[in-house]
Amino acid sequence: MRREAVAAGRSINLALSDRGIAALRPVGMDEYVLAEAVPMYGRMTHTVSGETRLLPYSGREGEHINSISRGGLNIALMNEAERHPGVRFHFNRRCTGFDVATGEALFADGERAPAATTIATDGAGSPVRNALFHGGIRRFDFSQKWLEHGYKELHIPPRAGDAPASGDRFLMERNALHIWPRHRFMMIALPNFDGSYTCTLFLTHEQMHEGEPSFDQLVDEQTVTRFFEKHFPDALPLMPTLIEDFFANPVGDLGTVKCFPWNVRGRVLLLGDSAHAVVPFYGQGMNCAFEDVRVLDELIGRHGADWETVYSEYGRVRKPNTDAIADMAEENFYEMRDAVADPVFVRKRELETRLEHTYPDYFSKYSMVTFREDLPYAVAKQKGNAQDRLLMEISAGLGSAAEADLPAVRERVMEVQ
Ligand SMILES: Cc1cc2nc3c(=O)[nH]c(=O)nc-3n(C[C@H](O)[C@H](O)[C@H](O)COP(=O)(O)OP(=O)(O)OC[C@H]3O[C@@H](n4cnc5c(N)ncnc54)[C@H](O)[C@@H]3O)c2cc1C
Repeated sequence: MRREAVAAGRSINLALSDRGIAALRPVGMDEYVLAEAVPMYGRMTHTVSGETRLLPYSGREGEHINSISRGGLNIALMNEAERHPGVRFHFNRRCTGFDVATGEALFADGERAPAATTIATDGAGSPVRNALFHGGIRRFDFSQKWLEHGYKELHIPPRAGDAPASGDRFLMERNALHIWPRHRFMMIALPNFDGSYTCTLFLTHEQMHEGEPSFDQLVDEQTVTRFFEKHFPDALPLMPTLIEDFFANPVGDLGTVKCFPWNVRGRVLLLGDSAHAVVPFYGQGMNCAFEDVRVLDELIGRHGADWETVYSEYGRVRKPNTDAIADMAEENFYEMRDAVADPVFVRKRELETRLEHTYPDYFSKYSMVTFREDLPYAVAKQKGNAQDRLLMEISAGLGSAAEADLPAVRERVMEVQ
């Protein structure tokens, strides 16, 4: 990655938020990573007729998420890790499994890597996890649920030619996560530091309902252009390489993986996506994986290299929380593609923003997940769902969020928590 061009079409940027920042802080990397981040203060929705509306992520000052480069982050992490004695990277070595009996990681070239302990961060398709599933461990719980939607990455370039006097090279609002919610599918765009945007189109692989679009129908220039003209007419003129990108970039799969236990005694631990891959709709997969590291680090601080104790305690503390974010991430998909275009939901978000603005100790569900590194995901889910139901009910009876009797709403929210 530091020497060769990174393959396109695999999530070029990511939203970094407080849980991820909290893990970068103790190793002194938070400011470095945030220096080239683009802050996103809210979701900007785009209707088919091109109207836009910004729904802030929070009513409090300073709470926002950050669009960062995936490649840039990986490079920064590798550079930093390499400054520490004993850290060595081995590139282009494909792991094929794990031998639980001997504690060795297995590689495609036939090599076996013995170790005092192994932490497997080999992603959603983890071969180490597969080895535990296929007999490495008795009673290994495993579930994998695919979404009917896949994703494809597309591109909006920076403004061509010289930047205007303001220096703004962004062709749309720069400090927002853009969403084109279209009920059963959607496109989003996150800003990049260079003024471009990475767009991600989420669409079903195959047609689910009569007359609806799907990836398998977008087969040539004409069908793709027509699809964008019909559903994303304001984005189309900003995407000069649409056709090229559409046919060059793959359609990715999206799914949720849950499994347990994550460790075999003190020999091996699954961490990050290998233990709990989630769909990307809360922007939390990486943040959650960073939080994994923070929790593990605290436990190592407490128990030292007693890996069995560290790992079993880690699994006990962490599993309810990673299950919670997996569930919330799936639910948020429906919120993003449907609800952000629903007037009741929009009023609810406005009401939450007013509450956050007026009562600094009030946190919406989104804020609890995104801006409260001190609050476990499972607590955010339980409190957040209770208040979401209530606020939707209140908002359904309002003409506008401004009409709400804030002290009374606040009191009712406190009662359900
Ligand atoms: C479209 C999309 C958008 C996303 N957006 C966000 C977001 O905005 N915010 C957020 O927080 N999260 C986001 N995520 C989730 C995030 O990408 C993951 O949760 C995060 O990358 C998990 O980190 P990881 O280190 O566990 O796994 P990965 O980042 O997948 O890293 C796994 C590593 O293991 C290596 N590997 C895999 N198999 C082998 C093998 N057999 N041998 C050797 N090495 C191997 C891979 O090359 C890779 O380096 C998004 C995901 C997707 C798909």
